[in-house]
Amino acid sequence: MQQFISMEEAYGEIEERASRRLISTALVPLEDAVGRILAEPAVAKLSIPPFNNSARDGVVLSASGLSVAKAGSPVKLAGELRAGDSVEVANGIDGDAARIMTGAPVPSWAEAIVMIEDLTLDDDGTVIINRLPEPGAWIRPKGSDIAETSEILKPGRRIIPEHVQALASSGVVEAVIHTKPRVGLCSTGEELVDVKSGPPGSGQIYDSNRPFMTAMMRSFGCEVVVNEHVGDTLDEMVGFLNRVMEASLDLVVSSGAVSMGSYDFVKPALEAVGAEIVFHKVTQKPGKPLLFAILPNGTLYFGLPGNPVSTVVNCRFYVHYALSVMQQKPLETPVRLRLENEIEKPQGLAVFLKAQCLRGKGGALVRALEGQESFQTMPLLEMNGWIVLSEHVGSIQAGELVNFYPSNPRGLPDIF
Ligand code: AMP
Ligand code: MG
Repeated sequence: MQQFISMEEAYGEIEERASRRLISTALVPLEDAVGRILAEPAVAKLSIPPFNNSARDGVVLSASGLSVAKAGSPVKLAGELRAGDSVEVANGIDGDAARIMTGAPVPSWAEAIVMIEDLTLDDDGTVIINRLPEPGAWIRPKGSDIAETSEILKPGRRIIPEHVQALASSGVVEAVIHTKPRVGLCSTGEELVDVKSGPPGSGQIYDSNRPFMTAMMRSFGCEVVVNEHVGDTLDEMVGFLNRVMEASLDLVVSSGAVSMGSYDFVKPALEAVGAEIVFHKVTQKPGKPLLFAILPNGTLYFGLPGNPVSTVVNCRFYVHYALSVMQQKPLETPVRLRLENEIEKPQGLAVFLKAQCLRGKGGALVRALEGQESFQTMPLLEMNGWIVLSEHVGSIQAGELVNFYPSNPRGLPDIF
């Protein structure tokens, strides 16, 4: 185990371990796949459109019909095609022109379609073309949208209703998705009082990490299977670890007891049950004593320091990253935004700053908020994201570009 690794190294370690523990998969009806992450490519069963069809109500012309129209003469209509008519019926129409409706198959002899607004129909079964069409006009060619057998959605994409529209048109009725990650969590600390059983007595505080972690894990699409408060003893922590191992989970998160205090027993408890400590302590602020381990049954374990903002940062960035890798999602790309206010920071330490992206005169700007200490939760109510500065940079001047990540990692489109 390394002491004090950098943010980039921590991501590297997590990626390596998490990629060996992919979340299990299931085949589900397409409508039930919304909100879940695709585990296998979706392959188009049909071309879209599946046959050449008409984009307008109007008249379809053959090449010779078009020549007649160019001469300014009426063209004789040889039939009518409606949506739902077969391609064979369309091809069987013998003539130079036919009435055609939107979505109807286009005959193989078609040169172009003239929309209804550009023609005059006569009672004698002829049509005058008032505006000549370009060749191919208003014909939607077979496969011009989606080609049969092509991979149309990659693994790692979170399915949204718009995907269902395209997948269903191309004949995909089921999708292989990652099932909900099964997670366990606990808060540690004798000073904590459950929010439901308060108010806190002298020297006590509300346990805010546990409701936060529960909410955050659910927002990441997880099922919280084990959810406990653990007192400050090694035995209680070992008991918790044994219970999470019995529950066969994908990932476990605890808050508190990973620093240097006399009651910081998470690491000794992990060692007592035979876990592998991958790293402990990252050169970052807040949340420096972050611990990452692998339980003997392979479950990933994150020991987060208990300060409320450290817990938020480490969940938002590292736990979310592990869950993404386990579901084949690529690393998020930050938005580059112009900084409104100067930030003082030493080199050699990565920082996560509560921030607000706002509209400036010249476009979007980002501001680091007041109150950056890890116990200060008020700015969590104002912020809409984080400025993340790597350990390689020092202080930043107003006007420089910085990396911004939205509070909700699902708040930005998936960009591949
Ligand atoms: P620890 O990481 O256990 O040393 O805790 C660091 C600080 O975070 C202490 O001030 C704790 O009281 C506080 N803290 C720890 N766990 C929680 C929690 N679940 N909810 C709110 N504050 C916490
Ligand atoms: Mg504690």
